[in-house]
Amino acid sequence: MTDISTLGEFGLIDHLTRDFPLHHKETLLGVGDDCAVLDYHTQGDSDKRRIVTTTDMLMEGIHFDLTYTPLKHLGYKAAMVNLSDVYAMNATPRQLLVSIAFGRRTKVEHLDELYAGILIACRQHHVDLVGGDTTSSLTGMAISITCIGDADADKLTTRAGAHDTDLICVSGNLGAAYFGLQLLEREKKVWAAQQGADETHSQPDFAGKEYLIERILKPEARRDIVSALQAAGIVPTAMIDISDGLSSELMHLCKHSHTGCRIYEERIPIDYQTAATAEEFGMNVYTAALNGGEDYELLFTVPLTLHDRVVTIPDVHLIGHMTAPEQGLHLITPDGNEFALKAQGWNHLATEQPDSPTA
Ligand code: ADP
Ligand code: MG
Repeated sequence: MTDISTLGEFGLIDHLTRDFPLHHKETLLGVGDDCAVLDYHTQGDSDKRRIVTTTDMLMEGIHFDLTYTPLKHLGYKAAMVNLSDVYAMNATPRQLLVSIAFGRRTKVEHLDELYAGILIACRQHHVDLVGGDTTSSLTGMAISITCIGDADADKLTTRAGAHDTDLICVSGNLGAAYFGLQLLEREKKVWAAQQGADETHSQPDFAGKEYLIERILKPEARRDIVSALQAAGIVPTAMIDISDGLSSELMHLCKHSHTGCRIYEERIPIDYQTAATAEEFGMNVYTAALNGGEDYELLFTVPLTLHDRVVTIPDVHLIGHMTAPEQGLHLITPDGNEFALKAQGWNHLATEQPDSPTA
């Protein structure tokens, strides 16, 4: 018998899916990107529209902890995680299918809350709920969401397609969700320690850290970035959403695009609350930005010629550039030192933080 850890998450996916041939000419892209890409043009339609589809599952105890996750936020987040993968293809989400499994103690009102969050996400992103599945569970709650979207064939953006000299851009800021999770986990331990003790229970105080808590509990899929790119007339050469940390996602882009890369530490966008909390935890903030997960920002590349255009887009940051593949993947620190990027992702952090998600 082989331990799954010897393959790792991506090795396992490769291992399981390698013997499946694609039978249909309509299947343009299968396993391996943020979404699969299908070509189903209807009569009278030109063949310029592409369908994209993606699915993600969230498990209680692995991806969420109901002691501090409001169900409404959970529903919203489960939808955002999928919408984010559709936007990462430079596509527009259209439909959702929602499958849930829940234990015997779950009440109708709990599921109402979960669906209230999904409804807000559907409204904000103009997406139709069109199906799903409902079942019971002996091991806690699970939510699996599938999203279907579409894009013009000439706008569709995969992980492949970046060129040697392309600029590397990232939206928003990184590492905030990681510290949000650390704060929630810390408060959970404090709360657990107080149980049974005589002292009055204190409420967690997240004053000045609200943004970090919001980033982990209520992430936003960056439709605004996809729209801004479109308005600026920019089609990224490659794109991916950041669910596992900048390092790991950059490695995917470089692997699929057959490039190397150089990114500059001081250019990695970090929010003030993230930096302050990193200091409090005695942690290097860039370690969290590179390897923490769940930021759901977009990482993309554009040709050097579009530099002046891309820097005008609000909340988009230039962090480096692609290189020839033989030059490798490097992070440059402000003092000029170069470090090879490692894909530690959640798996690495999980060894220090047993409560962190692993996929
Ligand atoms: P993302 O982080 O963008 O959601 P993942 O890292 O989960 O993507 O998955 C990488 C690729 O592998 C995707 O194309 C996904 O559809 C595919 N994949 C993941 N798990 C499986 C599985 N059990 N069987 C088949 N394909 C899978
Ligand atoms: Mg993705």
